[in-house]
Amino acid sequence: MMTNIDSNIARRGLLLVLTAPSGCGKSTITRAIMEEDPSIMVSVSATTRSPRPGEVEGEHYYFMSAEDFKGKVDQKEFLEWAEVFGKFYGTPKEPVEQALSAGKDVFFDIDWQGAEQLQNNAAEDLVWICILPPTKQSLEDRLRARGQDSEETIAKRMLEAQSESSHWVDADYVVVNDDLEKATNQIKAILQAERLKRVRRTGLADFVKTM
Ligand code: 5GP
Repeated sequence: MMTNIDSNIARRGLLLVLTAPSGCGKSTITRAIMEEDPSIMVSVSATTRSPRPGEVEGEHYYFMSAEDFKGKVDQKEFLEWAEVFGKFYGTPKEPVEQALSAGKDVFFDIDWQGAEQLQNNAAEDLVWICILPPTKQSLEDRLRARGQDSEETIAKRMLEAQSESSHWVDADYVVVNDDLEKATNQIKAILQAERLKRVRRTGLADFVKTM
């Protein structure tokens, strides 16, 4: 039997989530991927934390009061939301849904709590890549080499890193960043393969939960 092949079949966009302990090269890798493919949309989160110097409303975050944030939670306007370091962060649902239906891939800078919620709310379209350092010591060395943090902050970041890293088991892919260029290329390859996938998974999170 002959099958009609139409190579212009519309593709739904993917949700691309990279999680990593801080100091693992996530920002550098993200920049490299975005520079190569400017068609990827970046999801702009809402947050109740104050803007840092240089941060622009609507570009880095939508800054809002806790009251406004809670109102949006009640109205189910977020695809996911979480409390991180005592502040609330959430992904507005509407722009993501529009991008996916238009076949655009969306990049998220969210933590593991958000990624887990996307596994429940948008499992089919989610590609969750966890970046890990080759060793705990190498991460500590990198944080120190950046020269940005005090010893106390480094100790705090190492504790946070341990907690963030422990969620690698839930990710779809794990990339060990022992070489920045290699890790970046591996992530580009994952993205390429995921874009070409014919069948996307469904209900994986439920399946895992019942095991
Ligand atoms: P920062 O305040 O440094 O910009 O972000 C702190 C943490 O919150 C980072 O780990 C970042 O990935 C996470 N984050 C930012 N936006 C969101 C969001 O919309 N949802 C979730 N779950 N985490 C977020």
